[in-house]
Amino acid sequence: MNLSKALGVVCVTILSASAWCATAPTVTIAVDATTAPRKVFHASLRIPATPGDLTLYYPKWIPGEHAPDGPVIDLAGLKFSAAGKTLKWRRDLKDGFTLHVEVPSGTTEITVELDFLSPATFEGGFSAGSSATDKLAIISWNQVLLYPAGYKSDDINYSASLKLPDGWKFGTPLPVTSQSGNEIKFATVSLTTLIDSPVISGEFLKVVPLAQDPLTEMDIAADSAAALNPPQEVWDHYKSLVEQAQKLFGAHHYRDYHFLYTLSDHVAHFGLEHHESDDSRVDERALVDDTARKASASLLPHEYVHSWNGKYRRPADLATPDYQQIMQDDLLWVYEGLTNYLGFVLTARSGLLTADQDRDDLALTAAALDHLPGREWRNLQDTADAAPQLYFSPEAWHSLRRSTDFYAEDTLNWLWVDVIIRQQTKGAKTLDDFCKLFHGAPTTGPMVKTYIFADVVNALNQVTPYDWRGFWTERLTNHGPGAPLGGIEGSGWKVVYDETPSEMESGAASMYHFVDAMYSLGLELRDDGTITDTTEGMPAAKSGIGPGMKLVAVNGRRYSADVLRDALKATKNGSAPIELLVENTDYYKTYKLDYHGGEKYPHLLRDESKPDLLTEILKAK
Ligand SMILES: [Zn+2]
Repeated sequence: MNLSKALGVVCVTILSASAWCATAPTVTIAVDATTAPRKVFHASLRIPATPGDLTLYYPKWIPGEHAPDGPVIDLAGLKFSAAGKTLKWRRDLKDGFTLHVEVPSGTTEITVELDFLSPATFEGGFSAGSSATDKLAIISWNQVLLYPAGYKSDDINYSASLKLPDGWKFGTPLPVTSQSGNEIKFATVSLTTLIDSPVISGEFLKVVPLAQDPLTEMDIAADSAAALNPPQEVWDHYKSLVEQAQKLFGAHHYRDYHFLYTLSDHVAHFGLEHHESDDSRVDERALVDDTARKASASLLPHEYVHSWNGKYRRPADLATPDYQQIMQDDLLWVYEGLTNYLGFVLTARSGLLTADQDRDDLALTAAALDHLPGREWRNLQDTADAAPQLYFSPEAWHSLRRSTDFYAEDTLNWLWVDVIIRQQTKGAKTLDDFCKLFHGAPTTGPMVKTYIFADVVNALNQVTPYDWRGFWTERLTNHGPGAPLGGIEGSGWKVVYDETPSEMESGAASMYHFVDAMYSLGLELRDDGTITDTTEGMPAAKSGIGPGMKLVAVNGRRYSADVLRDALKATKNGSAPIELLVENTDYYKTYKLDYHGGEKYPHLLRDESKPDLLTEILKAK
């Protein structure tokens, strides 16, 4: 999973094999998505059953989302019947995702009718967020099905069909057996494979082949035809991404791979990994607009890496037998952290960003983590352990609460590992060797090979002997001060601040409508003056300003981003404090900030006293 930004190894308790029934049923599911533009989907299921209490589950822990966030609140229209007779049902009082159906004697199969109410607004968590517009829809099977208790998801089979609006095309890694008009029938697969294989569909859908063996393609749905025609070099960079990933890992673990890419301003924006695809959703103009393309350049590299790191190699605590068992997130510093680092590396190696742009991104990551007072109470491990909560935390007080920092901070930490390997072996080995060893040969179809903390340490030691257990224990449990900058510094660069925002920073600010006064005043705000966060210990917080307030005027003049930047510049030439008029819960107050440092924006600057390992790391192989 990806949105920008883990230790104690705890073994997961998996029910013994004897607790699972021997012969698993085959469920039939027919999904009607012809009403997708109304944002409602209908499903009809036939589930083999025996008389008595039938326990059915709605998927709760969605793989890759690392939280019990299955959208049960949007499950509606439930009706159970057998031989035309309506059956009684009741929700489990201890778990809202569990339903009990009374199955009468003589019954061998029940029918379930249900609706999925796809969220109409942009808000919503990951695949539970808005997924349909007038022109496109993404069908995530976990949203539209129930499954019987007592079986591993690997063992229950589903025979699925899907009806789309007239004229809509589709893309999916799920094998198709037949198509008639707007109705598609898929091969019978396990519940695991079905939920792992979403379908992207739409009026404007473009298939772009990236590689032949194995077949690798982009299936892109957009809200307009115009959004699907970027310059040719964009496709070349994605072809290069596939090539560079194959070189990095040396093998793969899918039959074929589909980048399911949704371009819309009206669906939730995120990326979600699968073995043979990814469900990634960005702005409508993310391929054709330069700034938007840069802002989302690292998303597909990240999600693609997950096919190896996260889906194939998976922490044992996350490899649960079905979707109701608790997933434990303590190793997300590998699952998400290493993925984020490798995604960062492949973004440059593929040419999706230049090395300069990729370094700018790294500078922003490092600077944000270096101004994080929440580090004093919450260590990096706890950001992973608390991931199910932190994914849904508000923007306000981010700096004091911390967020899912196992993405961003572990990008810095895995860079550090890469640098240590290069230093210890005098350049003979790199983190690429770890990837080949841990994620590589032999090539297989989709499968899961679990690991624990000790396996990561052992594999690193096979690449080069070092106190890796000590390194990671320190990285995960320390409280700073400051960000782990050893990797950046060891790679021949240092974080510096100057008065000009980098290309990547100004692009992000214009895309996401924010103003960055984080490293000067410790103030993060939106274009309209709404203060999203303040950093403890820095001038804004010290003066009494906090998140949720709104900046109205700067030095007596109505606030705009330019007025604030001009005032910040002027602080270098005078001794007067900068005066901010702020609205707070209907009251206005002027805060005087004794600040004279001018504007401050982060960059990486070359340190000529050391070899330039970072440039070497980011070079195409
Ligand atoms: Zn991820």
